[in-house]
Amino acid sequence: MAMRRILVASHNPHKIREIKELTAELNCEVVGLSEVGDYPPVVEDGETFQENACKKGAEIAKLSGEFVLADDSGLEVDALGGAPGVHSARFAGEPVSDSRNNELLLEKLASIPLEQRGAQFRCVMALATPGGQVEFSEGICRGVILFEPRGSGGFGYDPLFYVPELALSFAELSSAQKNSISHRFRAMQGMLQVIKELEAEKSS
Ligand code: IMP
Repeated sequence: MAMRRILVASHNPHKIREIKELTAELNCEVVGLSEVGDYPPVVEDGETFQENACKKGAEIAKLSGEFVLADDSGLEVDALGGAPGVHSARFAGEPVSDSRNNELLLEKLASIPLEQRGAQFRCVMALATPGGQVEFSEGICRGVILFEPRGSGGFGYDPLFYVPELALSFAELSSAQKNSISHRFRAMQGMLQVIKELEAEKSS
C-alpha cells in the first residue's frame, strides 16, 4: 500500500502541531486523529514510553488500515528517580491539568538546589504500518527544572524546563527554536529516515 497519508495517534493539538512542523519535508499528508474520525481512546498502561507508543500506533493502524505515527513522551527528573516519566500527563491526577502538574513538580522539588535539578524530556515515536510492522525512534533533550514558571509558549512542563545553553525555558522558545533541539525533534530525525525507507520500498 502506498504511503499517501500518516495518521498521528494523538488528540493533543500541541503535539500534533509540532509533529506536522517536523514532518513538513515529507511528500505525504500528516493528519491528527480527530481530523479524520472518531477513534476510541487507547489505554496507556505500559511501563515504558516504547510500550505505550507501540500500543497507540498498532491499535490505531489496525482500526484505520493506515500508517500511524504515535508519540509517547514525558519528563524524567533526576532528583525524582526519573519520575514522572510515563505518568507525566497525569502526574497530579485526573482531570489532566498542565498547571496542576507544574505546581506538583515545584512542590516536590522545593528543597532541591539548582545543581541537583537536572531533568530530561524523552520522546519515543512508533510508526505502525497497516501490515503490522512497528518501527521505533527515540529522542532526549536535557535541561534544568526552574523554581518558577517562565514563558507562555509550548505546553505541558515547558514553562519549568530551562535550557542552560540558550538561557531560556522551553516556553520562551519560538516553535522553530523548540523544533531544532527538542526530544520530539530528535526522535523525528530517526523516524524521517524510517519513513523515507518505507516510501522507497513501496515505490520500488
Ligand atoms: P502522552 O501524551 O501520554 O505522551 O503524555 C505526554 C505528557 O508529557 C504531556 O502531557 C506533557 O505533560 C509531557 N510532555 C511531553 N512532551 C512535552 C513537551 O514537549 N513539552 C512539555 N511537556 C511535554
